Amino acid sequence: MPIDATLPYDDDNVFARILRGEIPSNRVYEDEWAVAFHDIAPQAPVHVLVIPRGRYVSWDDFSERASVEEIAGFVRAVGKVARDAGHVGPGYRLLANTGKRAGQEVGHLHVHIFGGAPLGPMLA
Ligand code: C5P
Repeated sequence: MPIDATLPYDDDNVFARILRGEIPSNRVYEDEWAVAFHDIAPQAPVHVLVIPRGRYVSWDDFSERASVEEIAGFVRAVGKVARDAGHVGPGYRLLANTGKRAGQEVGHLHVHIFGGAPLGPMLA
């Protein structure tokens, strides 16, 4: 069920629980700012999710409230995962569904990285 990205952060969302280690995930990368793991229902040969350690509901929330350090740390982490971890590259696609209308299902910001093969045209 897609979530309303304007709602307050829910500490029991599934990615918060993955961050706390309460739910297992197949991690490919982690640092001070971000954690990356394989999506449980891959939509490409390689499909990795990168999430910030901070409590942000969506890209909208993150881009407005996060500090410059958090934003830089997170963006660098996405780049590192796409380049070096998870066997994504050399070409890849980034996606951040934001809010109900875009089909966001988990209320903790996540950037999808799709790769592992040539990708077809983007479908809305
Ligand atoms: O962008 P959206 O919110 O729709 O994507 C959520 C993603 O989280 C889905 O691709 C889903 O397969 C993934 N997921 C996961 N592990 C979970 C729950 C959801 O990888 N435990």
